[in-house]
Amino acid sequence: MNVLVINCGSSSLKYQLIDSKTEKALAVGLCERIGIDGRLNHTPAGGEKVVIEDAMPNHEVAIQMVLNALTDPNHGVIASLDEIGAVGHRVVHGGEKFASSVVITDEVIEAIEECNELAPLHNPANLIGINACRTIMPGVPMVAVFDTAFHQTMPKDAYLYGLPYEYYDKYKIRRYGFHGTSHSFVSKHAAAVAGLDLNNSKIIVCHLGNGASITAVHNGKSVDTSMGLTPLEGLIMGTRSGDIDPAIIEFISHKEGKTIDEIMTILNKKSGVYGMSGVSSDFRDLEKASNEGNERAKEAFSVFVYRVAKYIGSYIAAMNGVDAIAFTAGLGENDKRVRKQVCDHFGYMGITIDEEKNAIRGQECVISTPDSKVKVLVIPTNEELAIARETVALL
Ligand code: AMP
Repeated sequence: MNVLVINCGSSSLKYQLIDSKTEKALAVGLCERIGIDGRLNHTPAGGEKVVIEDAMPNHEVAIQMVLNALTDPNHGVIASLDEIGAVGHRVVHGGEKFASSVVITDEVIEAIEECNELAPLHNPANLIGINACRTIMPGVPMVAVFDTAFHQTMPKDAYLYGLPYEYYDKYKIRRYGFHGTSHSFVSKHAAAVAGLDLNNSKIIVCHLGNGASITAVHNGKSVDTSMGLTPLEGLIMGTRSGDIDPAIIEFISHKEGKTIDEIMTILNKKSGVYGMSGVSSDFRDLEKASNEGNERAKEAFSVFVYRVAKYIGSYIAAMNGVDAIAFTAGLGENDKRVRKQVCDHFGYMGITIDEEKNAIRGQECVISTPDSKVKVLVIPTNEELAIARETVALL
């Protein structure tokens, strides 16, 4: 079965058509500037990227353009829409309502809408994509796969905040965690590659990309994760601050006369290694600047690494041990310095890295030495494939 995987944002829409038998993407693409002007980047497997610029006043038009591109006689990959057996939608927030993926029905859409206030930037956009697909492909079954679902196994100790309980009761303010599809996919692969029984294992997954989070996976289940009510908590990220003393918000507000909304924009968009270095949110730019002697770029990198190590340490405590540590996402898969420097914090535990293996980029690999007490791995994530698998499993 071919599964169309859709990741819909407010003005963009990423897609992949995946053959569930071979698990290969037949085509990948991105609609940009929806509601502004419109551009579709479409790449058939093994072919050249095609750029189509045409008016995309809304998501329905964008999806129609995607379907036209997929069936186009020149750059298409299927003869007709009948060859799309299902659609898998990424949905960011499933709140406490969704602990696993679901087949989309009217009731499911209502329940997702009820989670909108927990992710006001993402969920409404995800729903627009779902509704547009339902309009254009009414007979095709659809599945929602939630970023938060994998973390619904966290115990209360891990998900409650030290706030008056009424805020949890009234508003469901708690840790939810994100990147769940990636943490689930990578922990399963890591267990297989490390030769561990997933149901009897302690694995820490470090998803280090522009957004970054770490999860403790005990016996295949998420038991703690670094992102919280929103994706702002936890690690220092490309532009997000991660953990800070909450009193800093009031302090900046008084000093600079800024509103809460303005400060939240600073914490989400102007902080992290970008704000610290003043150089870039991209770690490749930071590395270049560091090599050219930029001290703040060096410092930002070093603070980032320290925070990752601190979280790993806390999750070793949470699980009372660790069998494997897996690195994934743009930085985790590609940057050997991050992996080495993070792991150097755990020399006392007998974790040792094979420098030659660690030089590998973007490939599934064990990078610890054979005598290392904990296996360290690089496991490329593939959230689209994970969504396609979930979709097929449910249908
Ligand atoms: P993601 O959000 O998973 O796409 O990851 C984006 C981050 O990964 C950016 O900060 C990039 O600098 C980093 N990244 C991507 N490719 C590389 C690479 N080849 N070497 C180092 N960092 C990389």
